[in-house]
Amino acid sequence: MFIFDAHADTLSVLAERGEAYDLGTLKDSHVNLPGMRKGGLKAQIFAVYVPKKYCPGMALHAALKMVDIFWRNLELYHEFLMPVLCRNDLRPGEYSPRIGCLLSIEGGEALEGSLANLRILFRLGVRALTLTWNNRNELGDGIGEGERASGLSGFGCEVVAEMNRLGMLIDVSHLAEKGFWDVLALSKAPVIASHSNAYTLCRHPRNLTDDQIRALADQGGIVGVNFFPKHVTDSPDNCTIEDVVDQIMYLYQVGGSDAIALGSDFDGIGSTPVGLEDVGKMPGLIPALEKRGLPTAVIEKIMGLNLLRVVNQVLPERSS
Ligand SMILES: [Zn+2]
Repeated sequence: MFIFDAHADTLSVLAERGEAYDLGTLKDSHVNLPGMRKGGLKAQIFAVYVPKKYCPGMALHAALKMVDIFWRNLELYHEFLMPVLCRNDLRPGEYSPRIGCLLSIEGGEALEGSLANLRILFRLGVRALTLTWNNRNELGDGIGEGERASGLSGFGCEVVAEMNRLGMLIDVSHLAEKGFWDVLALSKAPVIASHSNAYTLCRHPRNLTDDQIRALADQGGIVGVNFFPKHVTDSPDNCTIEDVVDQIMYLYQVGGSDAIALGSDFDGIGSTPVGLEDVGKMPGLIPALEKRGLPTAVIEKIMGLNLLRVVNQVLPERSS
């Protein structure tokens, strides 16, 4: 099965551990190369998260360091990993021994208010941007701004238009609700919420209302199911894989079969559901979804084909 995860923070772990570690040797993380191979992963979106201590002033510098870590790992493990840069770099029907890696930036702080920086990051292989983290940045307000949160700034609107032009995935996870609706009104391409869940099942501000889920689905976008127990259920201490399946089934009811993906948030979360402790456990979702009566064709979409559809719709055509 084509398993494609929309969000992991493993580059942050690699940046913290330093030069001695790479994806092959990394231990005590949710994601590493042996785990990805064990889990039968076919593709992964790797996020470059820029911690607040680098903002403002050093955000782009910090992001570039992690972009370098991404490329050094792809070089080191080129037999097993390949970059996803263009439409159809990933083809589900064709067997490929290499796992596709798509580079994303989590937090528009990295742009430091400049469209030129967005274009430079695109040239460095970045193909997705989570517009905000929880705080306000130059693009708009994250959900951490609470009741007073505004929508997209003028610059945020320019970024959306430029991302549409370049062929980049616009990611609305972490964005405050006003900004979410601004993006959906502006974007000419399907939008993703790479790691967000349904608010009806878990009343966390990071999660999406039914209206938001329906709007993403209607627009051809996807919601990547986040595995973080606090985002999965209102009883996070007892969270298991079945609670994650509950989220998937609810998203299926509200948004239909084309709008669901996986957005583990591995290596960005302090705890995991029982049964989904790391990337090697990902295939455990397949029998769990079968037990709920979902047909194989729908399970395939959830496990990766929906996200793949959006990637192959949004990314640029190969130019040569
Ligand atoms: Zn996040």
